Amino acid sequence: MRKIIFLLSFVLLSSFFSIAQNVPSPKSHFGFEIGDNYHLANFTQTEQYLKKVAVSSKKVKLQVIGQTEEGRNQYMMIVSDPSNLANLEKYKLIAQKLAHAEDITPEEAKKLSMDGKAVVWIDGGLHATEVVGIHQWIETMYQIITRNDEETKRILKSTIILFVHANPDGQELVSNWYMRSSDTLKRTTSNLPRLYQKYIGHDNNRDFYMMNMSESRNMSHQQYIEWMPQILYNHHQTGPPGTVVAGPPYRDPFNHVYDPLLITGIDALGAAMSSRLNAESKPGYTMKGGSVYSTWWNGGLRTTAYYHNIIGLLTEIIGNPTPSSIPLVPQKLIPNSGLPYPILPQKWYFKNSIDYSISLNYAVLNYAARYKDELLFNIYTMGRHSIDAGSKDSWTLYPKRADALTELLKTEKPSGKIDSFQLTVFDKIYKNPTMRDPRGYIIPISQSTTAIQFINILINSGIKVQQASSDFMVAGKNYAAGSYIVKTNQAFRPHVLDMFEPQDHPNDFLYPGGPPVRPYDAAGWTPAFTMGIEFDRILNDFSGPFETLAYGEIQKPIGKINRSITNIYGYSFPTNDNASYVAVNELLKEGAKVYKNKDQYFVRFSDQLNASIEKLSSAHGVVFTSVTKPPTDTIQILKALRIGLWDKYGGSISSGWVRWVFEQYHFPFNLIFAQEIDTANLVSKYDVIVFVEGAIPPLKTEASVSFEERQPKMEEVPVEFKSMLGNITINKSIPAIANFIQKGGKVITIGSSANLAYHLNAPVRNALVEMVDGKEKSLPGEKYFIPGSVMQITLDNNNQANWGMNATADVYFNSSPVFRLLPDAIAQKQIVPLAWYASAKTLRSGWAFGQAYLQDGIAAFEANIGKGKLCVFGPEITFRGQTHASFKMLFNQLY
Ligand SMILES: [Zn+2]
Repeated sequence: MRKIIFLLSFVLLSSFFSIAQNVPSPKSHFGFEIGDNYHLANFTQTEQYLKKVAVSSKKVKLQVIGQTEEGRNQYMMIVSDPSNLANLEKYKLIAQKLAHAEDITPEEAKKLSMDGKAVVWIDGGLHATEVVGIHQWIETMYQIITRNDEETKRILKSTIILFVHANPDGQELVSNWYMRSSDTLKRTTSNLPRLYQKYIGHDNNRDFYMMNMSESRNMSHQQYIEWMPQILYNHHQTGPPGTVVAGPPYRDPFNHVYDPLLITGIDALGAAMSSRLNAESKPGYTMKGGSVYSTWWNGGLRTTAYYHNIIGLLTEIIGNPTPSSIPLVPQKLIPNSGLPYPILPQKWYFKNSIDYSISLNYAVLNYAARYKDELLFNIYTMGRHSIDAGSKDSWTLYPKRADALTELLKTEKPSGKIDSFQLTVFDKIYKNPTMRDPRGYIIPISQSTTAIQFINILINSGIKVQQASSDFMVAGKNYAAGSYIVKTNQAFRPHVLDMFEPQDHPNDFLYPGGPPVRPYDAAGWTPAFTMGIEFDRILNDFSGPFETLAYGEIQKPIGKINRSITNIYGYSFPTNDNASYVAVNELLKEGAKVYKNKDQYFVRFSDQLNASIEKLSSAHGVVFTSVTKPPTDTIQILKALRIGLWDKYGGSISSGWVRWVFEQYHFPFNLIFAQEIDTANLVSKYDVIVFVEGAIPPLKTEASVSFEERQPKMEEVPVEFKSMLGNITINKSIPAIANFIQKGGKVITIGSSANLAYHLNAPVRNALVEMVDGKEKSLPGEKYFIPGSVMQITLDNNNQANWGMNATADVYFNSSPVFRLLPDAIAQKQIVPLAWYASAKTLRSGWAFGQAYLQDGIAAFEANIGKGKLCVFGPEITFRGQTHASFKMLFNQLY
């Protein structure tokens, strides 16, 4: 009896506490239900709500994981049963140990899996105009904390949920923009005046191996250094027309460096998600070939997780606070394995999408709770596989190897029994020691500071990095103390291979001989190539005086000032190091005289110079060396040019990246918009104008008619954004740009803005054409197709435009323009080629079908026009702030 009374009072007490805690409902705080028509919550309101929830619930712990690019707090709400929250460090340590899979036996891992909790990441709001994202996030959090059903209790007991706000700045911008009209029917998320991430808008989901942006670094730190969630659920919008939501599993190809357990793990979660919707009579979930999303590429919030053995989930759901409807798409009314339960055309409300999202989150969390031990043990198993593969001779199953086998089966003479013949053929590839995966990589310390930036992207991504404490020798080569070593016998081996090795995208065609299937994003990216770092692949096991750096320990480039004792005339610093541009720009700002030859910058000694170079050396790693007399080579005197960087209303992502790069390297610049180009006296304000990808329309064809983007009317736009409206037009802007060049201005174009060369009648033509019935036509996809991939260009590095570059460089190519010169263009000094594709095989990483068409094509050139100059770069030399190897090609044009 006493026991019963005790139990009763316990039940009463705990229900009393749950009332006393009184977690505020979204309605009580925001003034509307999450999912109500015509209402969005902004970040300021959401931040206040998170703080209220944090003090009213024992099931949450609110954490600031860093600042955003606009300076707001970025939050992670950790949600679990209070008994778990009391032991958070213990559970985090278990998650880390299992993910790293180092120094623990399978038996110990089994035990840790039983003791640990499943860690599930649920984010919201990354792409801020996809407004379901942050609103489902708020509502799911509230429901998980306040619901008392058995399923919720089990979830809280067995899992630790990391609710991560993926883009605070974007939520503030988009929600305020939507809510700015008191007339609900006028509310829209369209026509935003600027990007929903300060620099890069939608590309904030293209930054997760590079982590240029603080939001990416904040989140990656939680993912790969702190928590290693076994499941990461990244919410997006919008599903394919005629469906409600696209989700896992995804279409092929997946990346060949993944563990098979990862792929089947995604399948299992996909089944849990779609089954739950089906069971709850929520039709319209599409998967596999039903949508365009694949698991090939690295760099997305969800996809970088794959390279760390984390089951990444992406859903793309429809829905908007302004009611919409499911359109009639006849083909989406046939059930198949990609869409088992079609949805009928109907009216659709924001609340419907919130409800679907909560079901999907619950499906994931329920799975995590019920299969917690397996999830924890599986991430250990994947890590273990990686360590084993990196500890012995291993061969990744690449498409190029299958092609080589197919070729051998055709060309080799069969001898003996067929099965032993096949084994002989197999061994020629898969026991060929030169084709092994590396055991590790050595990055010599004596190279440019970009190498340290490369090491830091590995470290920010939770990769184990070692550093040599003294000089050493491997495979007959000497390396200096301080050199870095990255071994592949570690849990996140897929990410290590991916950062150093070429991606081998399969030839993917709709049908044999048919058009290519465009990859969802890049086909190849290899940062070690596009950053231009020096490294050695080591195929055999190796050792040395290597010290392991602590996970997450960021490295700093070590600058130096080599001073002679007397007679210091000035200082030189190398042209091949990107950090030198920071130095040049700072020294020019201080009024110093800076000179340049092919190999060195040179600055004349002055009393104030010592302090400047001390600072530049320690902050940016620049190495200065004193000289006793003026250098004898030809010297260019540098002058900072007045730079205009094209941008547009709403914000160009490519321009945003260059804006960020300019800030990183301390280039002063102004943004310039179409209205100013059309009306201002450009030569009086600018020396150089930069047009990035997407700025300049093509020649007057059908394409250029649709090029002019629809923009809001002048009167619909707040006053501070009015000057940004307008497009680059063929009638007005192009003549103004031509006039600017004629009068001595310089114009730089990147990517498709090479169109300008045709508008200005520069003596070049498109190299990627064929003659059909006497007419010039672009090569069709069946013959030539190079989506985002890394290609090698060859440069004239004696030309001062290329000073500091090597004789070849790896560049990012994305269906980029390629040119041939008209006869006499060089002889008459109209065109100076800067870079070209020197052979029939210039692919370095990715997919380049028909790459032989590039041979002898021009990648970059300068054209002399009037008193000025047009500089055209076909490849995307500043791509996503990643392609450090080609930054100099732009920078050299800016003095
Ligand atoms: Zn999205």
